[in-house]
Amino acid sequence: MSSTSATQPALTPHEALARWFPGIADFRDRQQEAIERLVRGESLLYLAPTGSGKSLAYQVAGLVRGGLTIVVSPLRALISQQCAVLRRLGLNATELHCGIPGKRQYEILRDEVLNDARPRFLFLSPERAFSDGFVEYVLHRVRERIGLVVIDEAHCISQWGHSFRPSYRGLPAFLDRVFGDARRPPLLCLTATLNPREEAEIRAEFALAESAVLRSHCLRRTNLSLTVEHHEDEPAKLARLGEILAVPARGKTLVYAHRKSGEYGTGALAERFGGPANGVDFFDADRSDEEKRTVLQGFLDGTLHTIFATSAFGMGIDIPDIRLVVHYLMPESAEQFYQEVGRAGRDAQPARGILLYSVTNIAVRRDLIAGQFPGEADLRGVLDKRLALSDQATTWNLYDTLGGDDRALASFHHLVRAGCVAVLDRGIGTLACFKSPRRCAAFDALHGATRTGMIATIARRQQRPLRAVRDELFGLFGDGRLRLAAAPDKCLFLRRGTPLDDATLAALLGTIDERRAYRLAALDTFSAILDSGADPTPGVLAALGIEAAPA
Ligand code: ADP
Ligand code: MG
Repeated sequence: MSSTSATQPALTPHEALARWFPGIADFRDRQQEAIERLVRGESLLYLAPTGSGKSLAYQVAGLVRGGLTIVVSPLRALISQQCAVLRRLGLNATELHCGIPGKRQYEILRDEVLNDARPRFLFLSPERAFSDGFVEYVLHRVRERIGLVVIDEAHCISQWGHSFRPSYRGLPAFLDRVFGDARRPPLLCLTATLNPREEAEIRAEFALAESAVLRSHCLRRTNLSLTVEHHEDEPAKLARLGEILAVPARGKTLVYAHRKSGEYGTGALAERFGGPANGVDFFDADRSDEEKRTVLQGFLDGTLHTIFATSAFGMGIDIPDIRLVVHYLMPESAEQFYQEVGRAGRDAQPARGILLYSVTNIAVRRDLIAGQFPGEADLRGVLDKRLALSDQATTWNLYDTLGGDDRALASFHHLVRAGCVAVLDRGIGTLACFKSPRRCAAFDALHGATRTGMIATIARRQQRPLRAVRDELFGLFGDGRLRLAAAPDKCLFLRRGTPLDDATLAALLGTIDERRAYRLAALDTFSAILDSGADPTPGVLAALGIEAAPA
C-alpha cells in the first residue's frame, strides 16, 4: 500500500499526549515507535497484548496527523466505549452502528463527516464498510482529508482463525473503493496474538511488507502461570471447580463456560456458586446491554468477584485486576486459549489460568468447529433460493435477508469471491426515503424516469451507470437539497454472476475443506499441548511463534 508522508506535523507525539491525555505519564512498550512511524506515513501491523494500550497508538497518531481517522472495529460495544473515551477527552468522535436509527446515521455522516472538516475519529463495523453505500460515498468525497485508517482486532481478517469475520476480508476492496487512485494515508492493523500463518495472511491482504510488522516487547505474558487438568467427566470437573472457587481471597475470577443455557450454562453456574447476592454473576450474548453494563461495572468496582461468561466476554473489555481465569470448556486453539486467559493480570501483577477438560469436551469442540462451515446445500440454498438472482440488477438488504445465519452469510461471501454473485453497487433501492423541501429539478428528473422510484430502473431508463444515479442522489442529500422522509433502505445491488458449475463448486468446497481441516488441526495441536503435561506454557508459546524468552 502506498503511503503519503504527512505535511510537517503541528505537534509531536509527546506534546499530543500531554495535551489530550493528562492521565498518561508516558508511552510504554512500543507505542511511541508505532506513533512515530505512522506520523511519517508508514503502514503498520502492530502486535501487542490485550490491555497494553494499542488504542493510544491510533489516538495519538490520528491527532498528530490531523484530519479524519477511520477506525474499523468489530463490536458495537467496543465502538461505543472507544468513542466515549475520546469524547471525555474533548475530541470529536462519530460512531456508526445498528443501535442508531438508519435515518440518523445518514444525517450524522452528512453533518459530522461530509460537511465538517474538523479533526475527528469515525468508528464503523466491517459489515457497514462492506455494505453501506452512503458511508462509501461520503468517505470517497472526503478521502483527501483522511489521515489514518485503523483496523482494530485485525485477527478477524484471518480465514484460518476462530474469530474470522467474512466482511473483514472485504476491507481491502473497501479501501480501494474509498481511495481509488488517490494518495493513501497509512494503515494501522492492530491485534494481540497471531500465529505465523495468520500474520502472513493479514500482510498479504493489505500488501504490508514484513518490515511493517511491529511486535510488542512483551507478547509473552510473564506474570501468568498456567495449569491444565484432565478430568473424567462433567461431574468431576464440577467438583474440581467447586474446590477452586472455594479458596478464599482468590481475587477476581472469570470462568469461561460453553453454553448460555442448561445445567452447565453461565446462568445456572452463577446461581450454583452463589448468585449476585454473593458477588457471583454471569455475562453472555443473551443478556441485555443494560445487564452487561451492570455486570461489567460490578466486576470492575469489586461488588462482583466471580463472573461466568461465554466468549462474548472478550474483545475490548478492560478489567485490569482479574487474578484467575478458569476454562470450564475447551478452547479450540492455542490462540483462543492465550487470548482468553490473557484477560487475567492485565495490571501486570501475578495471575493464574486453570483449564479443566475432559475427552468429551474435545469431541464436542470438534463437532462445533466442523458444523460452522457451509456445505454444498448452504451454497446452493443461498444462491438459488434465498437470493435467486437474475441477469438484471436487483436490490438486497444483506443483513435483513441473511443476518443471524452465519453459514448463509459465509456462503454469500464465498459466492461473491467465486464470482457467482456479482456485487454491482451499494446504495439505496428507491427514491422513496427522500423528499425535497423546495423544488429540485434534478430530483424531479429522477422521479420522472419511473413511477416506482427504483434506482436500478432509473439507471436503466436513463442509460446511466448505477453509481452515477446513486452519487447524484447522495450529492443532493449532502447539499441539503434533499431530506430524508424515512429510513433509507440500505442495500446491495446484486446480479447473477458466473454459474456455480461443478468445477466452481469443487473449488469452493475445496477452500472450505481446507479451512475446516486447518481449524481441526489447530484443535489437535492444542489438545496435544494439554496432554503433554500440567504446564501448557511452552507448547502454547511455540504454537503462537512467540519466543519463550527467559521470564
Ligand atoms: P488494547 O487495545 O491494547 O487491548 P487499550 O488500548 O484498550 O488496550 O488500553 C488499555 C488501557 O491501558 C487503557 O485504559 C489505557 O488508557 C491504558 N494505557 C494505554 N497506554 C498507556 C500508557 N502508556 N500508560 C498508562 N496507561 C496506558
Ligand atoms: Mg483494543
